[in-house]
Amino acid sequence: MGNVQFWRWRRGDWGQRVSDDYILRTVNDTEIQITEHEIGHGFGMPDFYEVPDRPPGGFPMPTIMWAGNSSTITNWDAWLLRYTWSQLKKDTARFPLVPSTNQPMNVAPRAKVTTSYVSPWETVVALNDGLDPAHSNDRTQKVYGNWPEMGTHWVQYDFDLAYTLSQTDVYWFKDGGGIDVPRSYKIEYWDGNAWREVKNANGRGTRADMYNTTTFDPVSTTKIRLQILSSSTASTGILEWKVTGIAL
Ligand SMILES: [Zn+2]
Repeated sequence: MGNVQFWRWRRGDWGQRVSDDYILRTVNDTEIQITEHEIGHGFGMPDFYEVPDRPPGGFPMPTIMWAGNSSTITNWDAWLLRYTWSQLKKDTARFPLVPSTNQPMNVAPRAKVTTSYVSPWETVVALNDGLDPAHSNDRTQKVYGNWPEMGTHWVQYDFDLAYTLSQTDVYWFKDGGGIDVPRSYKIEYWDGNAWREVKNANGRGTRADMYNTTTFDPVSTTKIRLQILSSSTASTGILEWKVTGIAL
């Protein structure tokens, strides 16, 4: 049984090809091994018709998943069911190891990010690359900056799914030259028809060298943006912008 990993499971041919009519006709019979066998496929168990499908050295006891080999479900079939499910559980596409967002988490990396302006040598995807800066002039990762623009510019996240958002954390870019922290900024969400400012925004800091956390009344939305007003002497930039949300 230690060699099970060598079985060739024939993908795309996992049985279940008996009709409803057949199952209903035979379900009260004493011998329903075909129905039992097909139900085994329903749990993800394979066929063993061909020699290469069987484990090297054969089976320790008959199995209903090899048609004609057993007319009843055996202890070995029960073992195979547990084994099959232990293998499926390892399949991260079916059972994501990352918890789905029924707990608040940074959902920014799931967003498409756009901006009203980015300097050609910088990149706006820096905002949600998931990398925490060491300080506000950390150029070891990509950064977003809009030099030499002044006044109001925006950065925006678009999500494929609606999220309930309740917090943002902004790490401002400040290079001691043309880029400085902003004068102020607004947090807006898309309500389905128009942009609205979040309510009870508490924070909206403009400190360098740290995440500036802002909490607000939760909003359910697919888009959020920052409207950033620069100082009168410098452009603005962001190293990382987190958005805390829960999937609806
Ligand atoms: Zn089969």
